[in-house]
Amino acid sequence: MPSNLEILISRKQIADSVARIGQQITRDFAGESVVLVGVLKGACLFLSDLARQIELDATFDFIAVRSYGTQKESAGEVQLIKDVTTPLENKNVILVEDILDTGLTFTFLQKLLQARKPRTLKFAALLDKPSRRKMPVQADYVGFQIPDKFVVGYGLDYAERFRNLPDICIYSEGAGQIV
Ligand code: 5GP
Repeated sequence: MPSNLEILISRKQIADSVARIGQQITRDFAGESVVLVGVLKGACLFLSDLARQIELDATFDFIAVRSYGTQKESAGEVQLIKDVTTPLENKNVILVEDILDTGLTFTFLQKLLQARKPRTLKFAALLDKPSRRKMPVQADYVGFQIPDKFVVGYGLDYAERFRNLPDICIYSEGAGQIV
């Protein structure tokens, strides 16, 4: 493990938490169908593991946004770069995000998806950094609340790297070379 990476949440803790969220969703929507909408690219590993823990009739779709700013900080402007292709009217939609930080991305996507008139719209975030919130939002399903640290792994990147790490790690600049 490079010295600028430190494990915050292990793969075992992730797997246990994803299983718990899957069971909650299975209970909450018993007898119904759900559409999982993953926010690219960060949520793709979370969505693929979560989907296998949901014992319901389920379909997937993906949406992608860009938020302007530095590589570590969103500047507050969110733009849609890929929409879903599934009609969402009257469906139980679960928006699946890697991390809820300022809440700007979720606020943008909530408005966009509500306009499609889903029957229900819920929000699952693997990670939550409540101390960074700029918008008054919270997730319906949360894996872990984490401190205000920049994390990578399990789908999360720094300049597109580290998404394939199986654990969630704190990334610190200047603590060593990126190797
Ligand atoms: P929000 O719009 O809630 O501020 O941010 C959500 C997005 O910011 C996430 O989907 C993710 O792309 C990015 N983000 C926020 N915090 C982190 C972090 O600690 N690590 C990484 N890799 N991305 C983050």
